[in-house]
Amino acid sequence: MDPADLLQSYRRHINSPYADFLERQGLASTIQSAVGAELIDAEGKSYIDFIAGYGIFNLGHNPPELLADLHRELDAQPLWNRPFLNERLVQLCQELTAIFPGVLDKAFVCSTGAEAIDTAIKLARLSTGRRRIVAAQGAFHGFTLGALSLCGIPAHRKSLEPLLPEIDFVPFGDAEALAQALDAETAAVFLEPIQAEIGAIDPPVGYLKRVREICNRTGTLLVLDQVRTGMGRTGTLFACMDERVVPDVLVIGKSLAGGIVPIGAVLARSDLWGRFGLSFPMSASSFAGNRLACTAALAALRLVTAPGFLDHANRISELLWRELKKFCQPFPEHNIRLSGKGLLIGLHLPDPRMAARIVQLCIDRGLLMATAFCDSRAILIEPPLVLSREQAEKGLTIIKKAMKSV
Ligand code: PLP
Repeated sequence: MDPADLLQSYRRHINSPYADFLERQGLASTIQSAVGAELIDAEGKSYIDFIAGYGIFNLGHNPPELLADLHRELDAQPLWNRPFLNERLVQLCQELTAIFPGVLDKAFVCSTGAEAIDTAIKLARLSTGRRRIVAAQGAFHGFTLGALSLCGIPAHRKSLEPLLPEIDFVPFGDAEALAQALDAETAAVFLEPIQAEIGAIDPPVGYLKRVREICNRTGTLLVLDQVRTGMGRTGTLFACMDERVVPDVLVIGKSLAGGIVPIGAVLARSDLWGRFGLSFPMSASSFAGNRLACTAALAALRLVTAPGFLDHANRISELLWRELKKFCQPFPEHNIRLSGKGLLIGLHLPDPRMAARIVQLCIDRGLLMATAFCDSRAILIEPPLVLSREQAEKGLTIIKKAMKSV
């Protein structure tokens, strides 16, 4: 279909504001090829990808090994799921529970990050018998009603209130505020190690460790949402590993199945989950644990843990951080700053128009960029982890030129 007709159909049948947004950005096209960190649109324009589908393509676009496993799975029909045993699900859960062996020993595989968050909310309330949950200001956990109840951006909650009761918010990164907020009635603390949607805001070093200690004092569960900060994004397999913190519940998704098949997952201590089994009122869904998602996730975990994969990502992240810091220095009057970790970088500008202009110039010159969803003054730099040195350098040159001209 011609892109102009497609755009019209988007307007008529799907989402008119989104169609307008794509048109404004010059992105109202389809993609004819996507490999690694490069996209080529229907008109033949090539982009270096610094978005990674908003964090789902950590392994790059169309990793051949993952596609081959999916093809094999499809060819091996039938793709049955329940009520029989599903060996792909078993294999995946064996891999997932080996991440924090002996601690997070139970895994539940579902279809999205928000569904996994809702499952973690239920698990926390049911397993502790407590109702109160503490979340962080600025947090984003997805768009189901449960996940929105934990959203620390009031504007996103407002039009849908009342949401879940007994949820309180504390400033992100402030361990003392959290200590004050917890009591013996608090079921769980939900946190992202880095808050991506407000521009990759990272807490002070040692924060997660302090949070772990504080939760232990009141018997409150620590639930880490690593939907965005997992699968190597921040330099280790999961960001909490940097601080050697093990949560009671770990929520993952996005790149877990290479961005190709929808997936979410909850890993939890078996003493929390074990009691419920099928009686957990709960978290089954028609597609939970489906074979294609499990097959893709098994391949994705194999790729991200392969020798050298994260070493490469860390070398690229060092290069980006080093050069981006240099770009910020010549503009002290604008107080431009960087935040985040690994390949989840926030570039903070003094006002949204400046950020939007830089993003637009980058897109025009073939670098796919976006502002953070919940803070339009911040540009989020989140490329596939397979970004090559050459692509990184090319991207940096485009950003530098855009910043200079703005
Ligand atoms: N948690 C975090 C930290 C996220 O960034 C997102 C989505 O962006 C979600 C949860 C929700 O995941 P999904 O979009 O798969 O529902």
